[in-house]
Amino acid sequence: MCGIVGYVGNKDAYPILIKGLHRLEYRGYDSAGVALINPVGKLNVYKTKGKVAELEHFVTNKDVSGTIGIAHTRWATHGEPSDVNAHPHYSENGQIALIHNGIIENYGVLKTMLMGKGYTFRSDTDTEVLVQFIDYLRNENQCTLFEAVQAALNQVIGAYAIAVLDKDNNNEIIAARKSSPLVIGIGDGEYFLASDATPIVEYVQNVVYLNDGEIAVINRNKPLKIVNLDNIESKIDIRKLEMNISELEKGGYPHFMLKEIFEQPRTITDCIRGRINLEGTEVILSGILDNKDRFLNARRIIFVACGTSWHAGLIGEYLFEDFCGIEVKVEYASEFRYRNPVIHNDDIVIAISQSGETADTLAAIELAKSKGAFVYGICNVVGSSIARATHSGTYIHVGPEIGVASTKAFTGQVTVLVMMAMMIARLKGRIDDAKYREVLKGLLVMPEKIKEALAQHEHIKDVSAIFTYAHNFLYLGRGCNYPTAMEGALKLKEISYIHAEGYPAAEMKHGPIALIDNEMPTIVIATNVSIYEKTISNIQEIKSRGGKVIAVVTTGDSVVSKMADHCIWVPETTECLTPLLSSIPLQLFAYYIAVNKGRDVDQPRNLAKSVTVE
Ligand code: GLU
Repeated sequence: MCGIVGYVGNKDAYPILIKGLHRLEYRGYDSAGVALINPVGKLNVYKTKGKVAELEHFVTNKDVSGTIGIAHTRWATHGEPSDVNAHPHYSENGQIALIHNGIIENYGVLKTMLMGKGYTFRSDTDTEVLVQFIDYLRNENQCTLFEAVQAALNQVIGAYAIAVLDKDNNNEIIAARKSSPLVIGIGDGEYFLASDATPIVEYVQNVVYLNDGEIAVINRNKPLKIVNLDNIESKIDIRKLEMNISELEKGGYPHFMLKEIFEQPRTITDCIRGRINLEGTEVILSGILDNKDRFLNARRIIFVACGTSWHAGLIGEYLFEDFCGIEVKVEYASEFRYRNPVIHNDDIVIAISQSGETADTLAAIELAKSKGAFVYGICNVVGSSIARATHSGTYIHVGPEIGVASTKAFTGQVTVLVMMAMMIARLKGRIDDAKYREVLKGLLVMPEKIKEALAQHEHIKDVSAIFTYAHNFLYLGRGCNYPTAMEGALKLKEISYIHAEGYPAAEMKHGPIALIDNEMPTIVIATNVSIYEKTISNIQEIKSRGGKVIAVVTTGDSVVSKMADHCIWVPETTECLTPLLSSIPLQLFAYYIAVNKGRDVDQPRNLAKSVTVE
């Protein structure tokens, strides 16, 4: 993971780099650092354990002059978070500085070789090995920095996005990528470099996304040059950024997560815009239309995803089996990629990822493609690696999600899955008009219903205050709200560090019921009409054992609301859309508990948003 920023141009680099690091901090925040070449050619490297704010504090009264620099916010993979393991790393002779996102898998062999040549190492990182290796090759081959980087990367196994500076060349940054994202912003006599476009958007609109295996020579006095590992020059494909700077600010909310929870009425509107007509009589997704025959003839659908996106995939399973009659499998991308999964060439693999950069999901896509499957992507970030690696797909269009705990991306993913299921069911002639319209109309009014659910935030805050003491929570749901329960539990774990388990309500009897006592609260989602009675029985089982129940119920509910200790109401909707509403109070509940506990909601410990390493 980690965030990378670079700048070369006519402005002071430091403020641009620091601001950029703040924007990328969601990607990792255990240490941060910056390397700058000052006007007299001195390479200054400052780095420290902790967040970007600590780096800013650390550099107070230090020389941060210079119009060229690189900066990094780390999510440690090799070596504990510490000052010395923080990036940038530099060669022993202080000549080359480098920042890296990813993992150099063969760093051990390279390190042994370099130690044999007399190199010594300060840190425990794989990254320091790479910078020393580049230095070694440059001296050995008497070549340019670019050539040394190219030679090094041809021998490196692993994933990387890197940016490299040479102390004696204050005009140039060399950058390269494989399996970790990098985007270059092109200005007038200046260039920006970053892991995603958020640090760039306020300066330039023209960007180039680096492809895997490409190396960029970013020189302030020259046009951008991109060459691949085999030394073939690439065409410069300039894209326009479609991002609004206000989307990257908190807009008066104390945390990005809360802002993003409250944005959901708008993000669902954006997600369905131009796809469902105003009358709610038709949904058209071009990705499905363009590949109509494949979807009509699909033997199976296999979802590959991680974390929250995997939960969305589980909801997809209910939708696609029920409405489309297609057999569905839902796979953790990290497991799928290392099995030898059976994939038929009439299977469709659907990859779900907010960032579109999730390393395991990308690898699963490559595996599926190599076995002949058609791969469809559901991503948020336009132009991301997954969006480009898949044959076709549908964006969720919910805008940048910065809070590490995913909220609006989840509801966006579920919305896209509902639209896909409706369209395929219609094409297959498996859904009657009334049901089709009921679901589409349900989506059209969903933003208003989410507003109603959000209006209960004060009540949810009060309930959260009662339960902040708890060390364990059980989340139960049935049918399409079983994945919602798991997602609710994940939110709580991620940001409050309270242990929580999401379970299918009836399955509770086969184990978790043993945990129930008056100290372990259970959150029950009781919004599914079709299995309402069954859920009531499950609540009774908990109550009989002295458990405390917080129930998410439909407005007007008269039975569960009498049994539960506390109720949170959500508006009525058609059953397959209930996850979109029941997930809202669960997001707010996790948020308020985390705030009550004084947690760092937007940057919870040990996590990073975009998981670009295995
Ligand atoms: N593997 C490198 C490290 O542990 C980079 C990790 C990252 O992507 O932040 O320092």
